[in-house]
Amino acid sequence: MSKPIVGHLDPYFFQVNEEIRRGLQMCFGTKNEFTMVISGTGSAGMETAVANFIEPGMKTGIFANGYFSDRLTEMARRHGADIVRFEKPWGETYSDAEAAAWIAEVKPAVVAFVQAETSTGAYQRGHAIAKAAHEVGALVIADCVTSLGGMPCEVDEAGIDIAYSGTQKALGCPPGLAPITVSPRGVEWLRSRKSTPVTWYLDLKLLLDYYESAHRYHHTAPISMFYALHESLRIIEEEGIEQRWARHKSNHELFVEGLKSIGISMHVAEGKRLWTLNTPLVPEGVSDAAVRKTLMDEHGIEIAGGFGPLAGKVFRIGTMGYGSSPENVDLLVRALGAAMRRN
Ligand SMILES: *Cc1c(COP(=O)(O)O)cnc(C)c1O
Repeated sequence: MSKPIVGHLDPYFFQVNEEIRRGLQMCFGTKNEFTMVISGTGSAGMETAVANFIEPGMKTGIFANGYFSDRLTEMARRHGADIVRFEKPWGETYSDAEAAAWIAEVKPAVVAFVQAETSTGAYQRGHAIAKAAHEVGALVIADCVTSLGGMPCEVDEAGIDIAYSGTQKALGCPPGLAPITVSPRGVEWLRSRKSTPVTWYLDLKLLLDYYESAHRYHHTAPISMFYALHESLRIIEEEGIEQRWARHKSNHELFVEGLKSIGISMHVAEGKRLWTLNTPLVPEGVSDAAVRKTLMDEHGIEIAGGFGPLAGKVFRIGTMGYGSSPENVDLLVRALGAAMRRN
């Protein structure tokens, strides 16, 4: 990020941008040419998806099982969507059959779900949702903020039309950019859209004019952030994306085992858990705030607590990016064990 800054229309910048596109395609698991980054954090990616693909009055089906699906709902509401929610308790996921049956019944024009729900630690695969959505002609939006770079997003394989993410989660980059990818179906949809999105800054058609052929000035791209993402994607490429996923999986499993050894079990059912964000249950009689304070004060380790319906019930512990290592898992399990004995 301390490299000299070039202009936002400099050929070198577009070269960096092109390499970022290739790196993101690898991480998303897609061949989508329409793969770019939005200037803003993960929420800007979310709002870009909502603002460009959900028109006012459009029936929007949302799989609602955590905080970020609630944020999606709120954004869709502000953009005038006609919202139908499939609610589930935080931490649960949707079976293929129930997801398909619900979509067939509701017949939404757009379906949105959170693949990696950071508030609960649950992973929702997109295959059955996308298949059912396409059968009723709906577009599929997936929040991949905490999966991209740490777990397979399977954008093409699942049939996800629009996926967005953020740089500071499993990509292991500073915060500030929101990767987004759009399927050919999504691009077609965008081309035929008649109304103008209410947001100018996140208007994908205008952004295409800037990043693609015309290179027409739209806004000043935060060049240093692009350098950072460029470098983090090179680090991922060096490790190999498959190896990186495998590393996240094995360190997550090591962590779950370690937690078990100190008497802590997991909130999310086995097989539905994120490898990047873990939600162990706070044991009976233990104060989660006191444990977190001890970890911070005595070990310099920051973990998060649960919120919403999971406040006080779970810890939220990231094992992602550079932080996902056997040494860190071991250190954390020992520190957590010690902190729990004291609190
Ligand atoms: C972090 C996160 C976001 C929002 O990203 P910001 O970078 O905080 O704006 C959206 N969705 C999920 C699942 C997240 O974990």
